[in-house]
Amino acid sequence: MESILDNTPELKHRIEQVAEVAGYLWQKGWAERNGGNIVINVTDQINMYGCHSVTALPVRLPNSPAPFGRGNYDSPTTPIAIGTTLPHLKGCYFFCKGTNRRMRDLARWPMDNGSIIRITDDCAHYEIIADKPVKPTSELPSHLSVHNYLIAKGSPYKASLHTHPIELVAMTHHRPFLEKDVLTKILWSMIPETRAFCPKGLGIVPYLLPSSVELGEATIKTIDEGYDVVMWEKHGVFAVDNDIMSAFDQVDVLNKAVQIYMSARNMGFEPEGMSEGQMKELSDAFGLGK
Ligand SMILES: [Zn+2]
Repeated sequence: MESILDNTPELKHRIEQVAEVAGYLWQKGWAERNGGNIVINVTDQINMYGCHSVTALPVRLPNSPAPFGRGNYDSPTTPIAIGTTLPHLKGCYFFCKGTNRRMRDLARWPMDNGSIIRITDDCAHYEIIADKPVKPTSELPSHLSVHNYLIAKGSPYKASLHTHPIELVAMTHHRPFLEKDVLTKILWSMIPETRAFCPKGLGIVPYLLPSSVELGEATIKTIDEGYDVVMWEKHGVFAVDNDIMSAFDQVDVLNKAVQIYMSARNMGFEPEGMSEGQMKELSDAFGLGK
């Protein structure tokens, strides 16, 4: 079957990264059932072929009206309402995990379990352009709102990731850890790499209803405070970075630090952690800021 990826190697590479990360999320036990989401901005990878419209793409959506007719769509180009208006996303393209799709399936068959969408010119709708009529995640409005914010800020970040890292989520069941930057300081002090590779620390959003507008807004507010990784109390993390592999890496190093903390506690002692002086030395040596 034809795929939009057949003649777009840069786009194909981005989707392969998504599939690789989806596999890691499943292997780590962070993506039970249909848990978690990935949305990446692929506008550059599509526009680099000199194409600014769907009809000009090297490979068009396969002409397969039957699945669309049976689904919620009249045709591949029927715009679907986002539910909000996102002025910075006009004409942008995103790859999104499909609603109710499993990460473990996305890992093996990304274009069967996710789709590429284009935001229409009114900035309030999207159309699915490839490869199949896979409806995007129900979390699409909040992910797109974050991408709208990132573009408005001039950020180079193109990827957003939501997942359920077991040990990190467990730590949010302890109220003292939810105070601002308490977890950040504990986790940074467990191993130098956490300070270096998650240099902005871990933002905290108090428990809010999954999929709610309030959760999306609180996430953007926390990113705006300077965090790349936002912890949703008793739920999971939301991370942003240049690409999906980097977003995953930030969550991975944080969760590794939690595991070191837990291992020490399981051995019967409170881990000492690197000292403030050692952390400062590290920050100065590598120009980590904050
Ligand atoms: Zn979740």
